[in-house]
Amino acid sequence: YQAKTGGGKSIIFFEDIAEKASYRLRLESELPIAIETNQLILHYQPQVDTVTYKMVGVEGLIRWNHPELGMITPNDFIPMAEEAGMIIRLGEWVLREGFLQAKQWQDDGLNLKVGLNVSMQQFHHPTFVLTLIRLIEETKVDPTRIDLEITEVSAVEDIEETVLTMNRLKDLGFTISIDDFGTGYSSLSRLADFPIDTLKIPREFVEKIQPATTGYSMISSIIHLAKSLHLEVIAEGVETLEQVNVLNRLECSRMQGYYFGRPMPAEQIPALY
Ligand code: C2E
Ligand code: MG
Ligand code: MG
Ligand code: MG
Repeated sequence: YQAKTGGGKSIIFFEDIAEKASYRLRLESELPIAIETNQLILHYQPQVDTVTYKMVGVEGLIRWNHPELGMITPNDFIPMAEEAGMIIRLGEWVLREGFLQAKQWQDDGLNLKVGLNVSMQQFHHPTFVLTLIRLIEETKVDPTRIDLEITEVSAVEDIEETVLTMNRLKDLGFTISIDDFGTGYSSLSRLADFPIDTLKIPREFVEKIQPATTGYSMISSIIHLAKSLHLEVIAEGVETLEQVNVLNRLECSRMQGYYFGRPMPAEQIPALY
């Protein structure tokens, strides 16, 4: 490609791809060490009830604090970990870390729900529920303080398996959220079959919330759907007061976003709480 087209631009383009590939390879080869040597860290982003203006929860978001490359965003290594078969180990690290932190905050008297992201591979893995049971025993966390965030509810073929797994999670005391609701594939007609608690409205919609836009009608539909199914809603990526006001008018009173706080180290949460 480079030889055919010639010119500076295509060479830069080519080098850019090569650079990205070698960056990815480097992350892939170093991730196992990172898990073992505590280079991974969960930051926590506040979730606020805008009626009481209280922090009601936090979402744990993983970062990789690389000794040479600095802080690496999850989008640079979560998909890679999924493809490279490392998401189960990484996901277990996230759950243990999040459970320990939730237990700590509970002992300190903070009434906070801790949301943790679960990859679909992890969710469908045969040992997922057993791992959760083991981690509850190990960390002594109260599972009712943990919200498991899952994307894409339903690959049609395994609806039954999905419902079964969800019911076991609910029996253990966890709540379940659907992350980025409306962006992936989820079968609306079957939504009522899933024992879920919360729909998370994605930032993509909140970004374009001005009345008479698709963002606005998507959000308003999700809120109505949630109401009719008796589910909670929480809006993500809330950055401005205008967005807060529109969401409040639509009766969405739980919000998460830079307007209220960025993801931050756990130590900073109690003061803000
Ligand atoms: P997500 O679960 O939908 O998390 C929300 C993302 O939006 C986070 O990005 C958060 O930092 C960002 N965000 C929150 N508020 C705002 C805002 O007001 N403006 C903007 N521009 N962004 C905002 P982050 O931390 O980079 O995480 C990206 C994605 O990586 C997450 O999306 C989630 O899908 C995945 N992820 C993060 N941590 C984990 C984890 O522990 N396990 C798994 N499996 N996936 C994770
Ligand atoms: Mg999430
Ligand atoms: Mg989300
Ligand atoms: Mg996302």
